[in-house]
Amino acid sequence: MQKLLPLFALTLGLITMTDPTIAADASASAATSASAAILRSPQFSDGKFRNAVAMHKTSFGDTVGIFWKFLFQKPKNTVPTGVIPVLTLTRAQLLAAPDDTVFRLGHSTMLIKLGGAFYLTDPVFSERASPVQWFGPTRFHQPPIAIDDLPPIEAIILSHDHFDHLDYAAVLALSGKTRHFITPLGVGERLIGWGVPAAKVRQLDWWQSTRVNDVHLVATPAQHFSGRSVSDRDATLWASWVIQHGDLKLFFSGDSGYFDGFKQIGARFGPFDLAMLETGAYDAMWPDVHMQPEETLQAFIDLKGKILMPVHNGTFDLGLHRWQEPLDRIAALAKAAGVAITTPRMGEQLAMRLPRPTLAWWADVDK
Ligand SMILES: [Zn+2]
Repeated sequence: MQKLLPLFALTLGLITMTDPTIAADASASAATSASAAILRSPQFSDGKFRNAVAMHKTSFGDTVGIFWKFLFQKPKNTVPTGVIPVLTLTRAQLLAAPDDTVFRLGHSTMLIKLGGAFYLTDPVFSERASPVQWFGPTRFHQPPIAIDDLPPIEAIILSHDHFDHLDYAAVLALSGKTRHFITPLGVGERLIGWGVPAAKVRQLDWWQSTRVNDVHLVATPAQHFSGRSVSDRDATLWASWVIQHGDLKLFFSGDSGYFDGFKQIGARFGPFDLAMLETGAYDAMWPDVHMQPEETLQAFIDLKGKILMPVHNGTFDLGLHRWQEPLDRIAALAKAAGVAITTPRMGEQLAMRLPRPTLAWWADVDK
């Protein structure tokens, strides 16, 4: 679906191009190209970031085909007709939660408690994952907690700049209560361009690491792309993340197609106690940038994961599949393979080392 965001921009024409968010992005990409770290990056050549292996080129015909399917051949039930269960959270509840707990707040937004502090991945709280708030995919459910009610955040960990992962309004609202923003190269330039103090921002290339308190963070490869307008494709880097605290090891995939990087990450940093892996918004028309559930399972095996948590589903309609399909398919595949899987409800408190059994909460929503 992220392929379509530039198409939204094209469709919206001048209105999108004069959106203040996009204007900020344009200045950020100028700053990005000036950054020495970006120019030094092995991932950066000829003015763009690149995947390790070149992706299938999308022809004009492919793009028209994708657009056509979204407009006229979209299957039924890509959006729930019932109510997604959300467990409302309070600040007191979060402060009282033990260490090594994760709360899924939506899509790829995970609130993780480590060493008494909170870490937040890809915070998206806005109503739409879109350049504008009057058009584009709408949330299926409200976040379990409002940004104002969240406790102070030690670090926000970002995977890439697509709208369903990098929410301009959320970043601005969180900036005051967040000590550090940890991003792939170039994404931090956007944040600084939006007004986040540069001293809070650390930008990493693949395989680089940083430490926040006693949490060790490594930016690891992903196979994806980036961009927030028609003119900034692949101007910033995309990454997955290894998050390590003591002997607890977590993996957060961000967005990625299946690639042999998962084996490399597994060999260098595995095994992982919990692997939060993208499972959703896949399609045979864009096989390089999102994984089919069979590939998510293989990635989990490559990573040497112990418990699989499928994310990137259940919040936005970004694909051409039934909204429950990613969860149905990965749950069946995990069961057949004897893989431990956890599918907490939005806002459900989950112990990362030993999650208790979770419900197939999606199965009853539309009944
Ligand atoms: Zn993406």
